[in-house]
Amino acid sequence: MTLTLYNTLSRKKEAFEPLDAANVRMYVCGPTVYDFAHIGNARPVIVFDVLFRLLRHRYGPDHVTYVRNITDVDDKINARATTDYPALPLNEAIRKVTEKTEAQFRDDMHALGALDPTVEPRATEHIDQMRAMIDRLIANEFAYVAEDHVLFHVSAMADYGKLSGRSLDEMIAGSRVEVAPFKRDPMDFVLWKPSKSGEPSWASPGGIETPGRPGWHIECSAMSAEHLGDLFDIHGGGVDLVFPHHENEIAQSRCAHGTDAMARVWLHNGFLQVEGEKMSKSLGNFVTVHELLTGWQGYAWPGEALRFNMLRTHYRKPLDWTCVGLEEAHKTLWEWYGDLEGSETAAGVPGPVLDALSNDLNTPKVIAELHKLHCAGHWEHLRAALQFLGFSCERRNIERVRQDGAGSDVGCASTADPAEVETLIAARNAARKAKDFSEADRFRGELEAMGVVLMDAKDPKTGEFVTTWEFAR
Ligand code: AMP
Ligand code: ZN
Repeated sequence: MTLTLYNTLSRKKEAFEPLDAANVRMYVCGPTVYDFAHIGNARPVIVFDVLFRLLRHRYGPDHVTYVRNITDVDDKINARATTDYPALPLNEAIRKVTEKTEAQFRDDMHALGALDPTVEPRATEHIDQMRAMIDRLIANEFAYVAEDHVLFHVSAMADYGKLSGRSLDEMIAGSRVEVAPFKRDPMDFVLWKPSKSGEPSWASPGGIETPGRPGWHIECSAMSAEHLGDLFDIHGGGVDLVFPHHENEIAQSRCAHGTDAMARVWLHNGFLQVEGEKMSKSLGNFVTVHELLTGWQGYAWPGEALRFNMLRTHYRKPLDWTCVGLEEAHKTLWEWYGDLEGSETAAGVPGPVLDALSNDLNTPKVIAELHKLHCAGHWEHLRAALQFLGFSCERRNIERVRQDGAGSDVGCASTADPAEVETLIAARNAARKAKDFSEADRFRGELEAMGVVLMDAKDPKTGEFVTTWEFAR
């Protein structure tokens, strides 16, 4: 079956044909290493890990190069270094922050069953390549020097904005950024900027005498070119990166290399929210992978359950991360792994699983296929499919550890509002009375998603349905 992928650039699902089947090349924007990875950061890691596994299966494990960078130069890193290690010289403090965060990131992603990418380049080890690229852009009049900055001149590129589908005029009209007076055009973006004293700095390009540091976008252009060449197959990341990050990567790379594309296919995962709300520290629903693995909503959750829960939603859809969903994911794996005890692994990955994955990574369909294999008792095939997807099939790896010792059974703390639950129950019962059973089922589904267990009984006197409920444990 052909592999089809949804390309943000064309806004269509397209048949995937690698430029070189002997070396299929993929770049995914990696973490900025200043803090624990949150569960949203884990989404691109898991999604592109699944794609990496599929590509390795199709083209051979030695014929796929997956590059995921580490951004280790950034204002947020500097700020964290100053707060966490005030007594150390800044550069030393930065090294401590980045090393610690990078190690934590690696451990977390291993716990989620993600394979290491082929190369994990660090921005600070590619400054020469960034400088060379910037000099080329200046020489070809796509960039200019102003007040010790180097800026990319967006109107020098004929089709800037193609990926995000915005015209330059619209962008200017809609832009709320304060425009530095030295910019020729308000949308011109930074390739290089001066460093403040004590901050990490390198010799500048463009004949600038003061040392400086690169902008964020140029890092990915330089690292992808170094490890994958001027044109490669797939570039990925979260949907928030389409603009400006990926748009600007394309502008820099194409103008520096004189190519009409940087990557053939652009893939973007949808955003993840937690219990129906945007994840943010102020809302108190910000959750890191480390927290989930060590203690969240009463349990230390196994990484495989996090992975499975993530894959239940198609990668392009928004994902609502809920404790109830996680619990269901865990329950399914626990049951399957129990049934798989003592079974062998089939030689190949089942065809329907590969077909579903090859259709723009349709993981919900894959999971439906796994359920079918389970129902049919095809243990060898279920095991082969799960292992291919990064699951161990060993119960000892997915123990869910209670955080409060042996005491009460702490389940998910549902955040649902009891008044809303009552309203939905009344609506469901009204729908049932009107014999609109699909509507009634819809309300039931909504209630279940809120972590509510319904108990129906008939009142012996009136013959009416009485529904009581409780939060799932
Ligand atoms: P950052 O460290 O913020 O640059 O993010 C690293 C990666 O995680 C990028 O590919 C982002 O698009 C992705 N990402 C960040 N937040 C979320 C989220 N809430 N849901 C899905 N992906 C996210
Ligand atoms: Zn990037």
